[in-house]
Amino acid sequence: MKYNRILLKLSGEALMGKQQYGIDADRLMQYAEEVRAVAEAGVQVAVVIGGGNIFRGVQAEAFGLDRVQGDYMGMLATVINSMALQSALEKLGTPTRLLSGLTIQRVCEPYIRRRAMRHLEKGRVVIFGAGIGSPYFTTDSAASLRAIEVEADVVLKGTRVDGIYTADPEKDPTATRYPQITFDEVMEKNLNVMDMTAFTLCKENNLPIIVFDMNKEGNLRRLINGEEVGTLVTMNGAQHNLDPKHGGLQPDVHHSSTASADQQA
Ligand code: UDP
Repeated sequence: MKYNRILLKLSGEALMGKQQYGIDADRLMQYAEEVRAVAEAGVQVAVVIGGGNIFRGVQAEAFGLDRVQGDYMGMLATVINSMALQSALEKLGTPTRLLSGLTIQRVCEPYIRRRAMRHLEKGRVVIFGAGIGSPYFTTDSAASLRAIEVEADVVLKGTRVDGIYTADPEKDPTATRYPQITFDEVMEKNLNVMDMTAFTLCKENNLPIIVFDMNKEGNLRRLINGEEVGTLVTMNGAQHNLDPKHGGLQPDVHHSSTASADQQA
């Protein structure tokens, strides 16, 4: 197994499937099945799930409401998604714990780092709800922070595109995928892998990120087995299967780029 402990970030929006809002049951079960497979293979799995399928703080501003209030609403949305994923995993027989950045004691444990570590060691899938529990952050930041705190080997950012591209592949057919790239290159080329706070946390703590297509069946399992899936972001452009000291490859074609894994998520 290539990784011992992973942090999987799933966007809330991806949970909508083909719907306009909320949770698509098939998509939810598909994600739960992917997580179950890697957890049963012996990988310690932590999950952060977004809330964009229900509410985002910025929407509150658009309604003329208070931003901070909106952010708390967004955090609660992530708890709803986390509860759904927890339930789906348990239906498949996978033990889970939901730890929340906001205290909601009837439905989840409060986030306590040592507890999270212990649950992971015991093989429970740990879902972190309510982001980091503070407004003006995103669940990408929560994913980076929690991954660093629990000493995960990698942040796996599941999107609907199979990696980071030289340009947005949904708009530019000539765009090519980077198999791997450095943190510095992502910044230089202005590629929007995660929001800057989340990205900087990973960079400063030398925590690799892999952006990959979570909707392709078996992809998570392939990643765990060390196959080259998606785009690996590291300090030195290490390749998926090679010595981390090895220098990174360049993609076949270069374009100036504003591709966004976030927009693609
Ligand atoms: N949020 C927040 N603090 C956090 C995490 C999330 O305030 O630590 C709020 C924020 O308003 C955000 C919303 O919760 O827009 C939902 O999370 P996010 O947008 O990251 O979800 P995703 O885009 O992954 O679906």
